[in-house]
Amino acid sequence: MTSNGYFTQGRNADYGYECAAEYLLKGRDKTDRPFMNNTRVIREDEHTIVIRLHTTDIVTLKDNGDIILDSGGWHTPLTKGRMNMFLPKPYRLVADKGMWFLGTGWDKEDRKAVFENGLTIHADGTVTGGMSIEKFNYQTQLKKDIRKYAKAFAKQVANQKIPLPDGGDCWLCSMYTQEGESLGDTTADNHLLSHIEEKYYVPSLLTNAMKEHAMGILIHDDILAMMMLCSNPEDVNVPNHYKEKGMMFKESTTKEVVKMLVKYLERRLLV
Ligand SMILES: [Zn+2]
Repeated sequence: MTSNGYFTQGRNADYGYECAAEYLLKGRDKTDRPFMNNTRVIREDEHTIVIRLHTTDIVTLKDNGDIILDSGGWHTPLTKGRMNMFLPKPYRLVADKGMWFLGTGWDKEDRKAVFENGLTIHADGTVTGGMSIEKFNYQTQLKKDIRKYAKAFAKQVANQKIPLPDGGDCWLCSMYTQEGESLGDTTADNHLLSHIEEKYYVPSLLTNAMKEHAMGILIHDDILAMMMLCSNPEDVNVPNHYKEKGMMFKESTTKEVVKMLVKYLERRLLV
């Protein structure tokens, strides 16, 4: 690693733009020099040098000190390892459950941003371009809350506790624009969060989710039958086999209800 003269002080030494420029000047070709396996240092223009792994410019070094990262979709330990060589102290990329975090150490408390292509460390040490850790933590918790809500909701459906939508429903879920959009979808303030917090299982929310979700006709009929029986246990339009005592709402239908609710809510709340 040290044979080519680039690395002399171990990882995270000063491998910024100046160092790369110097390295290029010592090569035969002053604009393109091999660096490590499948990796080259290439001058792009008078202000820019890139580190190219195979065909991806994984690190872009700007003469103003900016360092821009791009995995090109190659979320591999090799890509991460190469990137780490060029990050200024004390920054490093750490992998956790398939995700990469930019941080100043190994601990969760040291994390500064979630890696995304275009993540940039500026000369003054500020970071832009990745999702903030605050937002990541918020979304992680929200995903759990959505799942919990969807599971409880599906259980209510299975137990015939969710009636057909009626005038008593949440107004924002049950009223629509002429284009068929729910009023809730047209307001900036997302009221769906309050349903999750209050464990309010809105019938219209379920039917809205059903409209958006591609599902088999049997599953669709299963859900509808449960809602109809909740509204009216004697409903003559519901096939008899649904009315038999001890009839079990199919496991697969419950799972499908969870799935459609999670999708519906995540699409609106994880933004
Ligand atoms: Zn609502």
